[in-house]
Formats: sequence, C-alpha cells, structure tokens
Amino acid sequence: MLFSPQGDHVWLDTQPNSEFNVPIGAVVKESDSGRILLEDDEGKEHWITARNMHMVQLMHPSSVQGVEDMIRLGDLHEAGMVHNLLIRHQEHKIYTYTGSILVAVNPYQLLPLYTVDQIRLYCNKRIGELPPHVFAIADNCYFNMKRNKRDQCCVISGESGAGKTESTKLILQFLAAVSGQHSWIEQQILEANPILEAFGNAKTIRNDNSSRFGKYIDIHFNQSGVIEGARIEQFLLEKSRVCRQAPEERNYHIFYCMLMGMNTEQKKMLNLGTASEYTYLTMGSCTSCESRNDAKDYAHIRSAMKILMFSDSEHWDISKLLAAILHLGNFVIVLLLIQTLLDFLCSPGMTRFELQNSLTNLSIIVRGESVSRPLNVVQAANGKDAFVKGIYGQIFLWIVNKINSAIFNPASQKPKDRHQSIGLLDIFGFENFSNNSFEQLCINIANEHLQQFFVHHVFKLEQEEYIAEHIAWNNIDFTDNHQALEVIALKPMNIISLIDEESRFPKGTDATMLVKINSLHGKSNVYIPPRSVHDTKFGINHFAGVVFYESKDFLEKNRDTLSANVMQVVHSSKNKFLREIFQGLDTTKRLSTLGGQFKQSLEKLMKILEQCQPYFIRCIKPNDYKKPLLFDRELCIKQLRYSGVMETIQIRKAGYPVRYRFEEFFERYRFLLPWSLRQKNDTRQSCISISQAVLGKDESWQVGRTKIFLKDHHDTVLELQLQNV
Ligand code: ATP
Ligand code: MG
Repeated sequence: MLFSPQGDHVWLDTQPNSEFNVPIGAVVKESDSGRILLEDDEGKEHWITARNMHMVQLMHPSSVQGVEDMIRLGDLHEAGMVHNLLIRHQEHKIYTYTGSILVAVNPYQLLPLYTVDQIRLYCNKRIGELPPHVFAIADNCYFNMKRNKRDQCCVISGESGAGKTESTKLILQFLAAVSGQHSWIEQQILEANPILEAFGNAKTIRNDNSSRFGKYIDIHFNQSGVIEGARIEQFLLEKSRVCRQAPEERNYHIFYCMLMGMNTEQKKMLNLGTASEYTYLTMGSCTSCESRNDAKDYAHIRSAMKILMFSDSEHWDISKLLAAILHLGNFVIVLLLIQTLLDFLCSPGMTRFELQNSLTNLSIIVRGESVSRPLNVVQAANGKDAFVKGIYGQIFLWIVNKINSAIFNPASQKPKDRHQSIGLLDIFGFENFSNNSFEQLCINIANEHLQQFFVHHVFKLEQEEYIAEHIAWNNIDFTDNHQALEVIALKPMNIISLIDEESRFPKGTDATMLVKINSLHGKSNVYIPPRSVHDTKFGINHFAGVVFYESKDFLEKNRDTLSANVMQVVHSSKNKFLREIFQGLDTTKRLSTLGGQFKQSLEKLMKILEQCQPYFIRCIKPNDYKKPLLFDRELCIKQLRYSGVMETIQIRKAGYPVRYRFEEFFERYRFLLPWSLRQKNDTRQSCISISQAVLGKDESWQVGRTKIFLKDHHDTVLELQLQNV
C-alpha cells in the first residue's frame, strides 16, 4: 500500500502469525516523509515506516462506519467482523445481523432497549427496517409462524455468561406482549422462569446467574396467534453442585434464598440457621452474591410458585427435603449415632436403622442378585453425596413436571385445532476447561448436534436462494462436522455408545472402556488416544477445537445409579413426598444411563428443531470481568470462530457474499452507468450494464431473477469507482 493521507482508515496487522490475533482497525493520525502514525481501535499509537508498510491495508468504507448486517461488510473477514462488533459495542449497539443470524454482545449494563415502547416499535416490522434487535427476531418468528403456518424455533447459543437466558426471557416477554391477552397462562409462562432459575441456576465464576441445565421452551399459540400454553423440556442438570462447589462459586440459589427469606418460625421448624453453617453451601467459600438479593428473590419464588399452582403443602415438602439435604451435608459418617442429628433426619420419613444401614452398606444388584458389602468412611460419604444428588435431581424433575402441568394445555394438541408453536432453546455452550469430564462430553455433543443443524440450515438456505434466483453455481465448500458427529454419537460403535456399553457391564471400568475406544477409534482423526497406558485422558477433535477429557469416573457418572439400599430407604420411607419424587425410578430395573437418556432427549429435540423454521442467536461475551464497555478482541474472535458465525462468512465468501436487489443496486451505482446507456427504464438491464462497464464481462458475478450477486472484490471496485465519480 502507498502512504495514506491523514484520516485514512486502515487495517494494521502487527502479529500475523498468532492464532487469535487478527488485523486491528486504525486511523492515520500523521503522515510525513517515509512514515505514518496510526492510532488503533484501542487508542494505541504505532509508527509505521516504509519497510513495514506491508502491515497496513486500506480499510473498506463499510468497515469505517460499521454496518448493521455483517454480510454488507466490504472487508468480510474476521478482522472486519470483530472491528464492526467493537465499534458498535462502543456505541451501545449490541445487536448485529450476519445475514439471518443475530449476534448479541452482552452489554453488562441495563440499556433502554426493552421498554414497552420498544416492543411496540418492533411489532410487525420486517427484519432490516429497524436497527437489529432480539425483538426483531421474535417478531419475525411470530409473523412467519402466523403467515406460513409453520412452527418456528430460536436456537440461542453462546458460552457461559454470554446472555442466552436473558435473550430467552426477552423473547418470551415480547411474545407474551404481542399475544396481547394479559392472560393467566401468559403470566404463568413468564413466572415459570424464577422458579426454574432458583432451582437450576447458581453463581459461578463466569456468571452470577449461571444456568446449570439446558432448556427448551415450546410456546403454543392458537390460530389467532394467542398464547394458549407451553411446555418446558430440561436437559442434564448439574447435580454435583449440590454437594460440591468450586472456589467462589455457590450452590443453587434456592438454598441461600430459603435461608435469607424464610421467617424465623419456619426456620425453627426445619432447624435451620444461616448459610455459613452448612458444608454444602460453603465449599466455594462464598455464600452471598453481590448482584443478587436472596431474601427478595425468595419472596418472588414463593409468589411464582403460587401462580404455578404449587400448594402450600407442596412448597413445605420441598423445603423439608432441601433442609434435610443441608443437614445431611453436615453429618459426618462416623458421627452417625449422634442422636439429635438422626432424630432430625428421621423427620422426612426415614427410620434410623434404614438410613444407617443404607449409607454404610453398599448393595449392588448384579444379574438380579443382591450383593451387600460394608463401606469404609470415604465410600460411605460418597454414598451420602450420591443420595443427596439423587434427591435434588428428583426434586428438580418434579418441579419441571409440576410447572408443565400448569402451563401445558392438552386442548392445544388436538389435531383439529392444531396449534403453531415457537420454541426457544437456551442450552449450555461448548465447554473446554482445564479439567473436563463426562458432563463436558455430553454438553459438547449437544453442541456438535446444534452445529450440524446450523451448518445444514445455513448451507441449505444459501443453496435455496441460488436455485430460486436461477444462479449457476458450483458446490460451496464448507467445514462440515458431520463426520465428527458420526464418530462421537451416530454410527454403530460410536464413542458414546461404547461408554454406555461398558457402563452396563458389571465388570466394566474406566480403563476397560478406554481400551475399547482406543481399539475401535484409535486411528480416527476425531479421537485422540491417551499418550501412554498410564494416561487416563483422551481427546476429541470437536468442531470448536480439541478437548481433552479425564476418563476417570466416566462409568460411575454415566451409570448414575443410586445403590439399591438407598432406593429401598426411599421406597419404604414414611415421607410421602420423598416417595413421590422417586416414583417410577427403580434403579434395579432402569436400563437407561445418563448418557443414554441425554442422547435420547437430544435426538428428540433435534427432530423437533428440524420441523421448525430456525433462527439463530449467537450471544457473545465481550470480557471475562462482567464489565460494561470492555471489549476483549481475542475472546470475541474465539467465540465468533467456534460459534459458526465465521463459518457463515466462509460459506458466503465461497458464494456471492454481496447481493443487491436490482433497485437497490441501481439506486447506489447509477452514476457509474455510461452516458450512452442512461435513461433506460429497465432496471435489471441497467444493472447489467453498470456491472459490465465497471467489472467487465466476468463470469464471477451473476444476475439472478431479482438480485445481482457479487464477490467481495466487485463491491470494492464499485465503491472505489463511486468515490471517483
Ligand atoms: P449461562 O450459560 O451461564 O447460563 P447465559 O448465557 O445464560 O450464561 P445470562 O445469564 O443470560 O448468560 O447473562 C449473564 C448476565 O449478563 C446477566 O445476569 C446480566 O447481568 C447480563 N446480561 C445478559 N444479557 C443482557 C442484556 N441484554 N442487557 C443487560 N445485561 C445483560
Ligand atoms: Mg443461562
């Protein structure tokens, strides 16, 4: 590039070879003989001499101002996207389209974007008429559902803290408003959230309100577009949190809310004190959360429960079990005989002997025969934790069922008035921690499925548009994760099925499982075997990068069984509620493993999604500090890369990323039309004439039925020509 005059916008590439570094936007501040002074997007200054001018490229005009739809970027590369998001983020414009995908950057502050007026504004508008917004997506879903009589879904993805749950709530709020009845059912659907969050969300280091389960909310509408019911499906609650929390993390909100919000009398009846007194609430050395008000939340949870028809006695039954969990946590196995503790523990309905026996003896049913052996202290403590996790998991399932029984309207399922629906998927993003276990594998498999769904859909849409426009085109190259998904979860003897098979095998261990996976997939490029016979870690090459999993405890986690004795205690318990939440759960007969159940519910979900017209919302976390106006470019590039937003860009790049309706094109570039050809009324022909004159009779731009299709460089040529007119 030649030396740029002052005020020119350029790309500056300082570290061309580092993985997450892309050229940064900059503006020329000074230009003197042989060198220029640049100020980059982050305010840093750089002197560039003639020798280093290869590091500087002229920026396309569209990148200077920023665009609402990134498909319109002249610089359609990572640097262009990140720069675009960055300058918009600085102006509180947190929403940006990339074609049909909405990218939402978490602002970490309350913006005046969600008022009743804003809802009214976005109601009944076409995408693109107003600035990008999550309401625009919601409105489009609603409009298309009614117009096309087709179910719609929004797949909301992003890493922890990126804003998935907030986006889901905003869409729900919008749909309830446009459905417009202020009805009981609308209120019930909205109030399901505080209950689910109380029992399923917790403070983590990444997010003060982190969802520790995935959910799919399907909202049902009648023929006139009025909400008449909903159904919630949950996925894979993180049960281990009930017994263990990492530093600076908390247990589920409900425990702290209960301790802060209950009155003295209720607490006395349950023999409860403050959070700091309970082992299960203090493992992360953190009992309060600055951004939350546990006492106030408790009042909200109580009123939400009333709206969702939880009776007082059901609420009390739940509280008793939650209290029992807290007490059990403090109870050291060797002190089992301490009378007072046992007396309390007996109150949910267990007899002293049964409890003692079940937690200190393990009986496993092997091929129908019960084998009993005494446990040592550590094993007994693990047994206690398993019991507690089991109780909490069942409480959560019971609550979801209870909510569904209030909001689900069976009438809406009758074929004659077949409802239309909008589904919202708020599910954990891709995870890659320093230590990854079975839970991460399940979560990442879910993300592989969603990525496949996404790639397929975006790719298909692209094809459909070319076909509809009668464009000649060759197959577009794109990275497909189908093969990886086959090896991990689809084809016979896939990795997850091998884990499952080994779990059913009484003699199976984590080591024998690894041997099997190695022998079947050792040569696959998706699976990375452990480095040696002593290594227990294996890797999987996911679409979002390689993740190493610690295989230790895989089988135990997958089996997810409570020992037969514990189940016996439950079933013979005098506590009716305890028996109720475990109803239908007979560990000796249950064949399904955790992985198996998860796989099944995922496959069911994918089938539902495939029937829908999908929308994708990619939430981006701009920094790790929950801070407003702080934009970490590297962090954002990583997320854009694996969320598939970059993928779309690549697909678009192979095709014709720039497309204009003839009228639009003519309006913008009409001054480029040679004099001899002006004054024609045929817009299409005029567009062709402009293109031929400026771009040449090049095979690489195409004329469709309503649009002209261009490559990036064509757009640049046109733009530059325009500047010279
Ligand atoms: P997880 O996977 O941990 O559940 P998440 O993607 O669901 O994370 P959220 O809980 O939706 O993340 O968002 C985290 C926090 O970020 C919110 O509690 C809120 O403080 C802030 N936040 C998210 N979206 C917005 C928004 N649109 N406006 C203001 N603040 C937001
Ligand atoms: Mg969430």
